Amino acid sequence: MPILPIITLPDPLLRKKSAPIETVDDEVRGLTNSMLETMYAAPGIGLAAVQIGVLRRVFVLDTAKGEKVPKQPFVLINPEILSFGDTPRVHEEGCLSIPQMYAEVERPALVRVRYVDLEGQQQEQDFADLQATVVQHEIDHLEGVLFIDHLSRLRRNLLIRKYHKAQRERAGAEPL
Ligand SMILES: [Zn+2]
Repeated sequence: MPILPIITLPDPLLRKKSAPIETVDDEVRGLTNSMLETMYAAPGIGLAAVQIGVLRRVFVLDTAKGEKVPKQPFVLINPEILSFGDTPRVHEEGCLSIPQMYAEVERPALVRVRYVDLEGQQQEQDFADLQATVVQHEIDHLEGVLFIDHLSRLRRNLLIRKYHKAQRERAGAEPL
């Protein structure tokens, strides 16, 4: 189960739409195992396949953080949001593909999702609070949408400028 490199902005793959997974086979299970390892190593609480350069509709999620907390991994294949709750929730979001950049995003605090699990069975489940935020962030990835797209144009442009400046500085700071 190798840890895979995570692609970052401005990689054009991040803007592509991912294709559905037709059969849940060993290849898919291997992919999702690698995605979980990669997410835990990053560390992150969600990772979509596109972020490791694979344009398939699957993401992993685990919001149980901390050494003493047991892992609580979810793998959602071909996820679809069936309904949203009425209450909004604001969360300071980041993204492993836009390192070190954070901004507050408002999304519904509850979502009902239909997805296929690792046994190939269709499931329906409610996700609330932080998990609801992560589920919506990751499903956005499958559509080529990033959390910065939920910001006003002004805030998005500021954040992108800050991001590129940080990238340039990091590149310039590389030891010879
Ligand atoms: Zn992300």
